[in-house]
Amino acid sequence: MLERVLTGDRITGKLHLGHYVGSLKNRVLLQDRHECFVLLADVQALTTHFDRPGLIREHLRQVALDYLAVGIDPGKSTLFVQSLVPEIAELTVYFSMFVTVNSLRHNPTIKSEAEARGYTDMYYGFLGYPVSQAADIAFCKAALVPVGEDQIPHIEQTRKIVRRFNDLYAPVLVEPRALVGERLEGLDGNGKMSKSLGNAIALDCSTAELTDKVKRAKTDPSRIRKHDPGHPEICPIYGYHQAFNTDEAVEIQESCAKGSIGCTDCKAKIIQAMDGLLDPLRERRRLYEGREAFLDEVLISGTERARAIAKETMGEVREAMKIDYF
Ligand code: ATP
Ligand code: MG
Repeated sequence: MLERVLTGDRITGKLHLGHYVGSLKNRVLLQDRHECFVLLADVQALTTHFDRPGLIREHLRQVALDYLAVGIDPGKSTLFVQSLVPEIAELTVYFSMFVTVNSLRHNPTIKSEAEARGYTDMYYGFLGYPVSQAADIAFCKAALVPVGEDQIPHIEQTRKIVRRFNDLYAPVLVEPRALVGERLEGLDGNGKMSKSLGNAIALDCSTAELTDKVKRAKTDPSRIRKHDPGHPEICPIYGYHQAFNTDEAVEIQESCAKGSIGCTDCKAKIIQAMDGLLDPLRERRRLYEGREAFLDEVLISGTERARAIAKETMGEVREAMKIDYF
């Protein structure tokens, strides 16, 4: 059997270049040699957006389109909707019996996300989303999970949950490993590029939007005149060169540090590189845009397939837990 891969994204907005370098790129590479599952995480989106359900619905097909645009092939990868596989919710409940509240409270990603959202108290669903994520991964026995670095604590938590389940009951679940992609900074230089923070370059943006966003992006604040020596290590634009313009990145770093390239020229180069990357995505998106029935069929048949696997795993889980009565 081919090794299984599972990843997904919260349906909180359009996907962006951060997702591309952190996870999407790896998914496209993996789909030829693995059985890939791509989860449209609407339940996990509710953990922070329960008061904006309309936004989740609005973005579901948009995210599906983003997947097809980057080259995720529905003939190779299974795309499915989290809330339509209720076995995941069932498995979450079983896992939650042996996961402690403190292990979740001390999870560094939970901590920093709660801080960023200004939570003084945490919603039960939000605090517990790593448990639900463990169920997302475990139901299909995924061995590999391509994610961005903010997800490392969650994969570690999943590994612990799976080990504990297998020790307590029977070795039916698979302990996954993370395939960690690069991290991309946001345009504001205040943290990672993120859907919810308004500091992202969406995968569907036009050349004009891209140019405008990059032109307004933060750079090294100590560079006031063109020939002031810069500090590329603190400039998000240099990070973009490392991710999207690898051939020139070293030269850019040296020229910036010496003050021989100005921010305007440096930005012009990265705009060109990003535009070159986005062009084939735009072309692929055009092929699928307006084909709603096709998109729905991809999600419906993918969800059916995921659900069949979930039912099979839950049979084993219930047997292992000795709650298979009849
Ligand atoms: P939200 O702000 O709603 O949480 P997000 O932009 O953080 O959205 P997620 O859906 O939480 O996106 O993350 C999906 C995947 O993309 C995860 O594996 C995450 O690690 C990865 N990812 C998100 N942003 C970045 C980034 N800036 N750089 C690298 N990887 C990223
Ligand atoms: Mg996130």
